[in-house]
Amino acid sequence: MENRWNTYTTYLNNKYGHGVYRIGIDGGFSCPNREGDRSGGCSFCDGTGASPTYYRTKEGKWKRSSIFQRNVALKGPRKVEPLDLRLDSIEKQVERGMSFIKRRYNVDYYSIYFQAWTSTYASVEELKKLYDKALSLYKFTEFIISTRPDSLDDEIIELIASYKNKVSDVWVEVGLQSSNNSTLERIKRGHTSEDYVKAVNSLHERGIKVSTHIITGLPGESREDLRATVKLINSVGSEGIKIHNLDILGGTQFFDEYMLGEISVPSNDRAIEDCMFIIRRLRPDMIVQRIICESPSHRLAAPRNFFDKSKIIQLLNEQMEEYNAFQGDLYEFERI
Ligand code: SF4
Repeated sequence: MENRWNTYTTYLNNKYGHGVYRIGIDGGFSCPNREGDRSGGCSFCDGTGASPTYYRTKEGKWKRSSIFQRNVALKGPRKVEPLDLRLDSIEKQVERGMSFIKRRYNVDYYSIYFQAWTSTYASVEELKKLYDKALSLYKFTEFIISTRPDSLDDEIIELIASYKNKVSDVWVEVGLQSSNNSTLERIKRGHTSEDYVKAVNSLHERGIKVSTHIITGLPGESREDLRATVKLINSVGSEGIKIHNLDILGGTQFFDEYMLGEISVPSNDRAIEDCMFIIRRLRPDMIVQRIICESPSHRLAAPRNFFDKSKIIQLLNEQMEEYNAFQGDLYEFERI
């Protein structure tokens, strides 16, 4: 069955004539939302940082006690290692990522992706050294950086734009999560939707593509909130979107609230419905880069019965087919 939305894989194949694989790396950054009086970070964050499966060393069979008894989350800022160690680590991560992908897919096309934590949270001089190092290791197809909207000042954006002549495309992934400022406050994001609009406009002015991260099923959010979030992402011209269903990770603020029965997580059905709701309202040309969270099992407290990605994709396609729905079929209608 063909997907009823623009997948990232199709986009890459059409653009480059072949698949391109991301090498996700951790540049050793911390996060401004964990410093000073924002030290707790976002309610859903366990301070582990996103990482691809090939770097995970503690993956294992889930033990209820490991999540429910250990206070696994990092509460404050991350300890930032000296720059030389971080540069060295980037080299090792790229080597490891490449050899894993080569072994598994036998390809030679890679993009470099600063994935973990707030990958613009450093001085411009330091960022330049880290980005230069990564880009010196291979002829990467795309350069991708993941960050927060309030960590993108003009100087940093200028630096990121300076890499446009080294790769085919430069992307910044911006965490919005919701367009509703009350929700952002509720989940302790430490930025506003206005910060997001400002950041995206500045990135676009310098020819940098944007992918926006959102979370479905956030506490207190209704379909109207989702609708408003999609409208905002459409209106700023975000080229891509990553949709995450709400996951509760051990030791987080949300974990405490979940254990007290104050919040719940969406079921499989609800997550699929939410995805369909979003995709039908997206700009038809937007690239859907992700539709679910894939948190490592040993960190995930809930939902424990969530289907895997291929099952969710299959069910979402079936449901969209049943409604004769496809990406953007309600976009014009909703714009009015
Ligand atoms: S911005 Fe990212 S790293 Fe920082 S607290 Fe939130 S989720 Fe964690």
